[in-house]
Order: sequence, then structure tokens, then C-alpha cells
Amino acid sequence: MAKELEFESSDFHEDKYDRLRLIPWWDQDRLSRAYIMVVGAGAIGNELIKDLALLGIGHILVIDMDRIEHTNLTRSVLFRAQDVGRYKAEVAAECAREMNPDVIATPYVSNVIDDIGLGVFRRVDVVLGGLDNREARLHINQACYKTNKPFIDGAIEALNGFARVFMPPKGACYECTMSETDWKLLNKRKSCALLTHEQMNEGKTPTTPTSSAIIAGVQVQEMLKILHADRGLPTLAGKGYVFNGLTHDSYVVEYQRKENCMSHETFDFVAEMPWASDSITLRELLQTIKAELGETAVVDLDRDIATTATCSCGAAKDLFAPVHKLRGEDITCPQCGQTMSFQQFHTLEGGEEFLDKTVQSIGLPLLHIVSGRVGFDIRQYEFTGDLIEFNGVFE
Ligand SMILES: [Zn+2]
Ligand SMILES: [Zn+2]
Repeated sequence: MAKELEFESSDFHEDKYDRLRLIPWWDQDRLSRAYIMVVGAGAIGNELIKDLALLGIGHILVIDMDRIEHTNLTRSVLFRAQDVGRYKAEVAAECAREMNPDVIATPYVSNVIDDIGLGVFRRVDVVLGGLDNREARLHINQACYKTNKPFIDGAIEALNGFARVFMPPKGACYECTMSETDWKLLNKRKSCALLTHEQMNEGKTPTTPTSSAIIAGVQVQEMLKILHADRGLPTLAGKGYVFNGLTHDSYVVEYQRKENCMSHETFDFVAEMPWASDSITLRELLQTIKAELGETAVVDLDRDIATTATCSCGAAKDLFAPVHKLRGEDITCPQCGQTMSFQQFHTLEGGEEFLDKTVQSIGLPLLHIVSGRVGFDIRQYEFTGDLIEFNGVFE
């Protein structure tokens, strides 16, 4: 059927993807069916989204929580002066739809670590990174390994850059490539977790629209080959493309998989539950999982949730939010102004006092996945009832 239509339309006027279809292994229908997540709509993200729109990628999910600043205009092909102050994700998605009405580009003004559930990762074909920090890369890497999705990361500095491809469940992952210096810088950033988002962004990297175009181009070409995996094309899986912009030399490095790496967990099976995060309580969640796995089953969350903060002056307040999301003001005592200490958990056993809270009210993202566990027997459960919140994006 598709073949016939193609033939007929080329008789009269050429299909706009004609020059792409001339590539022998090319399958435009796959691209139009593909779901690609782009994390970061900065210098690299703009180039990624531009390429995806031109190529007719059917579904582009754009994740970025920042607003456009004047300094972005020199490196961001999708942004104009009148967009300053608007959210990057929204403008980039609008522009992608304008460039090619065949694509559905959906913006998420979100922090990928706190706000994007694992069920979203599960529903995309490839994740492309245009990020400026190790913490987000490490999170995406783990999410991609858990849900068995390729992660193609890009990084630039001045005229140089590199693109890396991580293909779960085998081969090296992003964490495997991290050096001691990377860990030091990451922990330094983590220790600043209670600073504001603006303060954390202070470490600015010099970037150019030229190196971002080169690196994003390599990332998208890798994505194209991965979408055509059955064609036997070589890819950069477990490898990195390193580009030296001063000499225009480039080379490929191969990463070693570290068997003691903490990021290699891949889910075998995810049960799609009709649960919606805004209505199911922690008690109901535990009951269902205990009924299936046994009375001793516990529920593991993939993040620490802060419960109650207390102060030496006697004051106390409820937090019920992921520890990662807490800011200085959240744990400042309302009575005496001192920093409060707080309790946290990431496993639910059944005796907790707060089991009547909903899953949403403890700060888990929509369409997330939790683990039920008895001994070494672990099963994953998704809050599939949250799909309704995604306005038909995943249909
Ligand atoms: Zn690893
Ligand atoms: Zn106090």
C-alpha cells in the first residue's frame, strides 16, 4: 500500500523526502513512526531538533526547564530575539512543527531528573542528550539502561566536542566512562544540591554554533543507523567520536565496560498497571504488590523522599518531596531560621505513618515505574493510568 502511494505521488510531484529515500537502506516510514526524546534545548539541542524536524521524525519530545536568554541567540538556530524570556522547550517544539508540519513536537518544561517518569523513557526509541552536566547524564544513562533504550550523548567545548553512543543492555555505559575527576566534579555539584537552579548553572562552558552543529549531526546520524538496526550498518555503540576543532582531526575511542558499574540494571518485564499517581495511595500500592509477591514484599523507589523536617528549637514541618528537589528555603526553620534536619526513605515496608498519601503527593513523576521486591525476586510496576495526562502523545 505504501509503495503504491509513493509511486503515484512521484508521478506527479516528488515526495519531499525523495532525496533521503534514494539512500538504499533508508526507510522514511520508520522515521515518521519514531519517538525521539531530546534532553536539553540549548546549543546542541537546537541542532538536534532542527535535524529531527528536517528528517520528518514523527514524534519529538523536547525536555528543558530553562528560559531563553540573549546569550542563547548566537548558538541556537531555532530562537529569535523576540523569544527571549520564553521557555526553550516550547519555542524549540513550535519551531520544529513550523519547519515540518509532519512532525509532532511536544515540549516538556521539566527537569529530566525529577519530572520525567521511566514510562516515558520506555515509550521512546532513542534518547538524544544535549546537556551541560554530569548529573543529568548519569540519570538519563540509568533510565536508559533500565528501560533498554539507546542513549546518544553529545558534548562541546569551544571548537571541540564528542558524541558517544551507549546501547543497553550490553557494552559500556556512561558511568563506565566516568573518570575520578568526573566523580569529583559530580559530587561537588551534588553537594551544592541545596542551591538554587540559577546558582548551579553558574559554571558556564564556552560553546559555538559550529561545534554544536558538527556534534549534533554525528548524534543524529547515529540515531538514524540505530533506527535501521536490521540493515547491519556500523554504529558507535559503546564508543565515542572525538572531534578536535583546532586541527579538524577526529578519532573514535572504544570504552571498556566496568562489571562493577552501578548503572547496568535492565528491567526484564514491566507490568502496566491502571494506577494513576494522583489517586492511588501508597497503601493501595503496597497492598496490590504484597498480594502478588507475598506479605513480606516491599516497594523500592528509585529516589530518596524526604518526609519530615525538625529543628533543634522544636519546630517541625512536612516536606514529602524528593530530596533532590529540596532547596535551601525548604529546610530553613520557619521559627528560628536555622537549617533543619529531615528524615527520608526510598523503601516502603507497610508500617509507615504516611501510607494514605498519594504517589503524586510524595513527588514521583508521572508515568513512573516502581519495584516490588521479595528477597532477590524483583518486579517492576508502571503507573500506566497516567497516560491520560500525556494528551495522546503515546498512541
Ligand atoms: Zn556502566
Ligand atoms: Zn528552629
